[in-house]
Amino acid sequence: MLDRTTTDTHRLLIDGRRITAGSGRSFETLNPATGEVLAHVAEADAGDVDAAVRSSRAALNGEWGHMRAADRGALLLRLAELIRSNSDELTRIESLDSGKPVSAIRRQDLPAVIDTLTYYAGMADKINGQVIPARTDALTYTIREPLGVVGAIVPWNFPLMIGMWKIAPALACGCTVVLKPAEITPLSALMIGELALEAGIPAGVLNVVPGFGQVAGQAIVDHPDVDKVTFTGSPRVGHQILQGAAGNFKRVTLELGGKSANIIFPDADIDSAVKAAGSGIFFNTGQVCSAGSRILVHESIHDEVVERLAARAAGMRIGDPLESGTNMGPIVSEAQMNRILDYIDIGRKEGAHIVTGGNRIGDRGYYVEPTVFAGVRHEMRISQEEIFGPVAAVIPFADEEDAIRIANGTAYSLAAGVWTNDVTRAHRFTRELRAGTVWVNTYGPTDIRLPWGGVRDSGFGREHGEAAIDNFTEPKVVWINTGR
Ligand code: NAD
Repeated sequence: MLDRTTTDTHRLLIDGRRITAGSGRSFETLNPATGEVLAHVAEADAGDVDAAVRSSRAALNGEWGHMRAADRGALLLRLAELIRSNSDELTRIESLDSGKPVSAIRRQDLPAVIDTLTYYAGMADKINGQVIPARTDALTYTIREPLGVVGAIVPWNFPLMIGMWKIAPALACGCTVVLKPAEITPLSALMIGELALEAGIPAGVLNVVPGFGQVAGQAIVDHPDVDKVTFTGSPRVGHQILQGAAGNFKRVTLELGGKSANIIFPDADIDSAVKAAGSGIFFNTGQVCSAGSRILVHESIHDEVVERLAARAAGMRIGDPLESGTNMGPIVSEAQMNRILDYIDIGRKEGAHIVTGGNRIGDRGYYVEPTVFAGVRHEMRISQEEIFGPVAAVIPFADEEDAIRIANGTAYSLAAGVWTNDVTRAHRFTRELRAGTVWVNTYGPTDIRLPWGGVRDSGFGREHGEAAIDNFTEPKVVWINTGR
């Protein structure tokens, strides 16, 4: 059952083969629930990335580039089936490597991965050009061609799901992919690469190169034969990627961070609002780009909401992510845990009031208590900066104008939520809130059919839906002189 996490070194997957890194180096990936070494993983450097890019280019020029689109779609469906039949092992690997509870992976991540593959498998043979009758002396039309070799760089918070958000549309469009998983969660990506081969996807179409961001990631960004970089991660690295990609004018999509506002008015269904506010910030231990980390509450119900939210925090079942009853696991790494604890300290020093939580749990593994700060002011750092942990900042507001000002008052703009039973107010807020997604009377659901992304420090471009097809194709104009 655990074969893929217990082999000595998990090798790179390049051109259909598992190979050691050119340098012979490897790195450790740890189990965040215990802090113990889970596996050793080959560490790709620029030479390995170059081999992966060459292999992906060759695949593009070979069988894959000449395959019928419907056949590509069928292979993606086959991969979806293999993921389904291997879901126990994938769930276990993802949980051990990332600390995500198996209950959440089964309920959310794996169904989303399969849905994503199925959706784009169905789209593969529907990526059409257009006849555009520009002139009477010519037949003019467009073809949508695959963009080429795609570098996909993914974070550790949803390794499987965010990886598939990139792999599935890229392959549906006929591109090939060099995938670099985050260095702290490399294992599930390697397994997906193997399953892709088993599904019959030709060697080189999906290469997987675990390694460090500044080395393997940067090598993808700098490589002159990579046509596109699709990145999900922090704004800091997003800047570096944009600069690196300028070298050969690579196309870039950036899905970055967030500090999303979840706004609760007194006329809302408070039970539902508090429940969703809790899962909005505590789901995945708060390590979610669209986490509702700022809970804006009308001052008339601030104390009531705080009290009920604190009760929800205290009711979280925190523990071993492999236990099916656990709904909150550890933080992904010691460094991230310390970053969160530092922010909790900052909040204390800024004068915000901790209602519940605020501490590390035990000294084995990287567990942090779900934490609620009340009476937070908009200017405080814990209200402005992404903490990426189970830390809610509850901010009171006076009226609609105040709520909008606070909600739109950070550098981010990924998502926002508003709770109200006033339909006109709901519409005012969907218009006024600066966010890629606005939820009304719910918080957090996403669907592969709907475009996903933000602007400003949350990045640019959209993933999901038909928008992703534009990310991985380029229109070519054909102009055939037909005479008069
Ligand atoms: P990160 O930016 O540190 O790392 C992300 C990936 O980039 C990793 O694979 C890393 O190895 C790689 N990387 C690091 N330096 C690089 C470089 N110089 N060149 C190329 N690649 C490099 O982010 P993280 O800590 O893994 O993830 C957390 C961040 O991701 C948060 O800010 C979060 O909000 C964001 N995120 C956004 C979304 C979204 O859809 N908008 C989703 C999930 C996470």
